[in-house]
Amino acid sequence: MTRSVVIIGGGHAAAEAVIALYQMGWRENIVMLSDEAHLPYQRPPLSKAFLKGDLDAAKLAIKNPAMYEKVAADMRLNTRVINIDRQQQQVVTDSGERVAYDFLIIATGTRPRLLQVPGLPDDNVHYLRTLDDADGIRAEIQPGTRVLLVGAGYIGLELAASAINMGASATVLEAAPRVLARVTCEIMSDFYTHLHRSRGVDVRVAAMLDTVRADGDGWIATLKDGSEIGFDVLVAGIGVLPNVELAQAAGLQCDNGILVDETTVTSDPKVFAIGDCCNHPNHLYGTRLRLESVPNANDQAKVAAASIAGKPVAYDALPWFWSDQYDTKLQTAGLSTGYDQTVVRGDISSGAFAVFYLQEGRLIAVDAVNSPADFMMARRHIPAGISPDPAVLADTEQAWC
Ligand code: NAP
Repeated sequence: MTRSVVIIGGGHAAAEAVIALYQMGWRENIVMLSDEAHLPYQRPPLSKAFLKGDLDAAKLAIKNPAMYEKVAADMRLNTRVINIDRQQQQVVTDSGERVAYDFLIIATGTRPRLLQVPGLPDDNVHYLRTLDDADGIRAEIQPGTRVLLVGAGYIGLELAASAINMGASATVLEAAPRVLARVTCEIMSDFYTHLHRSRGVDVRVAAMLDTVRADGDGWIATLKDGSEIGFDVLVAGIGVLPNVELAQAAGLQCDNGILVDETTVTSDPKVFAIGDCCNHPNHLYGTRLRLESVPNANDQAKVAAASIAGKPVAYDALPWFWSDQYDTKLQTAGLSTGYDQTVVRGDISSGAFAVFYLQEGRLIAVDAVNSPADFMMARRHIPAGISPDPAVLADTEQAWC
């Protein structure tokens, strides 16, 4: 009997899993079930090049469609899985079909947290997660459009930069006292606030939307402090929630994501979970993590494929992220949670510098702004647990490792 791997999801993790299975030597069935209408596409450009019209949808494909044919993968689109029957080792789709698996990979990702604003119909709140979402936002932004962004995470700030580049105006509302507060330190928040304000973005922190009312062709938002902002388009980027409901209903252990071990196996040895929806152990930081990052999705896909192909390896990658806003590239290596010291290398006002995060002297993360060499060095050396001299780190005349 030919065995089958079924993959639920159609994002970065799912696409990588399809190809990695083949590369690891799997020559039996591969079935990918995605509820989207498109073959897997790259998400990072959706808030940038794609939105601005610099890249068309065909160029977003993660893998050339011919590659899926080469590996004989059955890529089923517009197919939503509604149930996992672990007893029968089958998944049930929304059309009632049962698809049998020998191994199941759950790569269901996340969905946007929803924003409810009294006075604003839900249809008028945009989110950016999918290609169709990006298409919808792109269609609304012309030169002169007033864009209101709720949330100053990566989505809110990258969209603000794109809106400005498209000749629109942008206001960003962040509930926290500073931008990018979830992922970075005050130095970086100050830098990004200044960067956006210097480009004309109205950045407001500790700002909460209260109500919205119609105003001619547009809208007027009233904030909790009573101030008012006119806008035409509202996009909420207020974080995401992991899609764990299928796993939960199937009795798999979940806690801020689907719990997996270092080989991405869930509490059922036949079921794997990878990417944004899973929560995995990280030995370097001594904690469990649920990461929202493309590199994590790709690396975990390879780990799951290796296990299924009978060549298990442990997932041990250093988390890393990037964000492009205007001509500024932020590259982050490691996780800064728990730092007790920061060291700046380079001149912040030059727009090229790095912030190093130390915990009891040990380097745990770096935010590198237009400073790829610091990022590359950090990626290489953080896993080794180095404790660089802060004075040397701060001195651009000296190599820091
Ligand atoms: P995010 O990074 O979690 O940022 C959302 C921000 O909105 C947080 O600062 C949050 O504050 C704030 N917020 C929450 N509720 C709010 C409200 N009612 N009013 C105003 N602000 C509010 O999430 P995101 O920007 O939506 O991004 C979604 C996902 O896409 C994330 O996984 C992100 O990593 C990913 N993404 C990544 C990139 C990249 O890596 N370059 C680019 C785009 C998207 P609290 O934390 O206090 O709730």
